Parts: sequence; C-alpha cells; structure tokens
Amino acid sequence: MHRLARLDHRFVWHPFTQMRDWLKGEPTVIVSGQGALLRDIQGKEYLDANASIWTNLHGHNHPKLNAALQRQMKKIAHSSALGLANEPASLLAAKLVEVANLGIYDIRFTIDATTGQSRRQSSIVNRQLTKVFYSDDGATAMEVALKLAYEYARRTRGIRRPKFLSLQGAYHGDTMGAVSLGHIDLFHKAYAGLTFKTDTVMAPYCYRCPFNRAGPERADARDYRSCQWECVDQVERQFDKQSKRGSPYAAMVVEPLIQGAAGMIPQPAGWLRRVAEIARGHGTQLIADEVMTGFGRTGHARPVSAIGAEKTRKREDGKLQPSRPPVSSSARVRSSLFACHLEGVQPDFLALAKGMTGGYIPMAATLTTQPVFDAFLGEYSEFKTFFHGHSFTGNQLGAAAALASIGLLEDKAAIRRREGLERTLGTLLPSLWSSPSVGDIRQVGLIAGIELVQDWRMRKPFALKDRVGARVCEAMARRGVLTRPIGDVVVLMPPYCTTDEQAEKMVEALREAVREVVG
Ligand SMILES: *Cc1c(COP(=O)(O)O)cnc(C)c1O
Repeated sequence: MHRLARLDHRFVWHPFTQMRDWLKGEPTVIVSGQGALLRDIQGKEYLDANASIWTNLHGHNHPKLNAALQRQMKKIAHSSALGLANEPASLLAAKLVEVANLGIYDIRFTIDATTGQSRRQSSIVNRQLTKVFYSDDGATAMEVALKLAYEYARRTRGIRRPKFLSLQGAYHGDTMGAVSLGHIDLFHKAYAGLTFKTDTVMAPYCYRCPFNRAGPERADARDYRSCQWECVDQVERQFDKQSKRGSPYAAMVVEPLIQGAAGMIPQPAGWLRRVAEIARGHGTQLIADEVMTGFGRTGHARPVSAIGAEKTRKREDGKLQPSRPPVSSSARVRSSLFACHLEGVQPDFLALAKGMTGGYIPMAATLTTQPVFDAFLGEYSEFKTFFHGHSFTGNQLGAAAALASIGLLEDKAAIRRREGLERTLGTLLPSLWSSPSVGDIRQVGLIAGIELVQDWRMRKPFALKDRVGARVCEAMARRGVLTRPIGDVVVLMPPYCTTDEQAEKMVEALREAVREVVG
C-alpha cells in the first residue's frame, strides 16, 4: 500500500463512512485534477461524476480560477471580518446581490371563478435580497438563516417561540441547527436529544408518492403521475393547523426544485411556486437552501405548468370553481443562476455554499432582505446586534475564487456549454431504461438521480443492507468513473466543463455497472 494511503488508514477519520469497511481496502489517493478528471497517486484517471460531492463547477485546475487565487495570494490570504472590511468580500457581496435579484418576472394567470377564463398580469418581483452574511459552508449558511429568521419573527411579529417547517427527507447540513431542520432518520435520529423540534410536511416524491395512482412507466415519474396535487394540500393543511394554534411558522425551509441528500428528488413544476404562495399567505418567511442547487446547477428557465387550472373543478351549477383561491400558474425568468427563480420565487433567505467558489474553497453566504437587516439595528445598548460569526468570515481567497467563478458562469460561451451538457445528459440518460433495475431517472438541469430497484414493474426497492447503490458505484470506479450513491439512487452531477464524450463515458459506466451488480 502506498505510504500516503497507509497514513490515511492510520490517522484519518472520513465523513459519512463506515471506517471498518474503509480500512479493508486501499484508499484512492487523489493528487491532481484537470477539468472533469481526477488523477490518483498511481497515475490512474477518473471522471469526477459527482463534481467532488456537488461542489465543483468549472472543472479542476481551471486557469482563470487559479489566476484569480494567485493574484489574491500575492496581496493577502485572510484578514478578519470582525472589525475590518476587505476588497474581494466587498466586491463579491455586490456581485451576489446583483445575480440574486436578476430579472425575476412574475407572470400570473388568475382564473375567473364564474367564466373559468384566465387573465394575465405581470410584474417584477420586488422582494430584494440586499444583504450578505458570509460563513464557511452549507451548514453554517443555514445556521445563519435559521437564527436570523428566529430573531426576526420574535422581534417583528411578537412570536414567543418561533417554529420552523421543513420537508420530509430534508437535509440542510450536520451542525445542530441544520440537523434540527433535517428529516433523514439514518443521519439525524441519534441526535434527537440535542436538537430542537421542527415540524415536517410531505415533500413531493412522485415516483413513490402514495397519492400517485399511475402505474410505473419508463419515464420520469413527474411526467406521468396522476394525482390531485395532494402534496400541496398537505402543505396548506399544515399551515392552517399551525395558524389555528395561534402561532404561525417563522419560516419554511426548502431545497428548491430538487432535494439532494433525500435522494435527488425533484418537485413537479409549479410545486415550489404554489408552496411559496401558501407560506407567504401565512406571513411565513421562506428560506431557500440552494447549497446544492445554486450557481446554475438546475439549468434553465422553463414555463411552470398551471396548478390552478388543473385543480379547477365543475361546480354543481355547471360553473367552474377553482378548488383553491385563484393562483398564479406561470412564472418566467430570463435566466438565473438560482433554482427558486426558475419558478419565479424570491426567498427571504438564500443559503449558498458548495459551488460558490467553483468548488475551490470552503465559503458560504446567507443573503437576506432589508427588513431582516433592519430588525437588528439599534443603539449598541439595545443589544440588537447579530452576535454570530466565524473566524474565516469573508475570507479573501474564497471571495476571490467566488468572484472569478461567477465571472465564468456569466460567460456567454460557458452558458451555451452548460445548456449543451444539460441536453447531452437528457439524450444519454434514457438509454438506461433498458435495464429492468432502473426504476426512475430524474434529471433537473445538470443533476441526475437514477433510482435502482429490484424490478421496475413493482417499484420494489432493494434491501438497504445489500448496498446495491454503493456496489454499483464501486463497479463504476473500476471503470474510471467516480460518484457516490444515496441509498440506491446513483447521482450524476458532472462539472460544467465535462465534454459530451466524458458524459457518455459516465452514463455507459453506470449502465455496465448496473448490469455487473444486479444482472
Ligand atoms: C451539502 C448541503 C448542505 C451542507 O453543506 P456543507 O457545506 O456540507 O455543510 C446543506 N444543504 C444542502 C441542500 C446540501 O446539499
């Protein structure tokens, strides 16, 4: 075994890893990377098919990011944000505020209850994210949002013990506040004694939804589902229940468009939009966890289908009556780097991390609105200060990398390349349907989750202890493609620089690995 691998075995404890299993094999020691490729100590090359756990955007060793870091390094690597401002952190905050408010249009169709005809109104969404609080990673970005929303609810709405609502299967990080918002028993249950209680509500999971009456098909379950949007009803009911208790939720927390660690579970178009409206209707703030989805991961704007129209039912007197208040049914954005904008939703808190620095440096940001900021203003002696911070808040190297990364994201040719890769994945992934063990293929932009099952006709899962997903990923690694599963969902989340040939190799390795492991 290589000396570095031996040192790892002796001294390193790896995250989310059963170390007894880890110690049985020789670890892959990465020494360099180039674009979508990683190279290990033996010189073997691998495709980085999950973008180094969802962080890398433009590929490894990118000349522009490297240059930006080198330029910054010649000036200074870090000085404290406690009591001091700095150059790249100021520039980045301005840039984040710019891209987080870009071109969000709100086009609403309201349905007239008597005639059943729809009317179009459009306006620019004016809820602005104007302030940036820096931290180090996704979990801390969420802790900041949580604490700010909590205090805001206490100070401005007089709620004594503000409560939070988050989604079934939610994952928001591993610090205790983030764990309290999370609902993955395997990760979170053991620490229940350390956390505070949050409410949970049904999240859409069309493939395994108890309300979906459609039998399995060889297609994304969102496209053939047959339901009455019961998942939205559940949210509505949960809010009503909480309001009757006399204490509305301080905030609702969502991963917009797709829940990551829950198993790459996408929301049907229109869900986010409608749920945001329900939350707003109850005066509840919205925390969007875009730690995974942010910075172009979820691809491009597309029209949102009409929930309102689908829910329209005939009244006894023959007139059409929407089963819920007239709701918006369409939202468009010109383009946006953020998932919630693709549904025309602007949250009160936007948590960013993973891809923010292009996946180079741990850095995070929580963006929020002027009213939240203002709630913390006062005379010093009023102690309204937000007493929270981290040693590396506003780190210069991170900020320099993030600025360069956003520059790359805005490059016209790079945008076309991203669109191209999204389309390429869209044409390659359906080839996986040929395997009877592929139950669902879920693609949202440049994220894909492939759910493996014993038999697609029954949607019957494998036993967790059989580690089918993990074994498929091990078989992919032998074919030079690295990714990690979530249970039996295999994730493909390539860096944006991935070529069509490399994307093809990723999908082919997955197809062959599935055949090898489950026949
Ligand atoms: C990864 C992730 C987090 C936690 O981020 P860390 O940087 O690992 O702390 C939070 N939310 C979502 C949606 C994530 O994917």
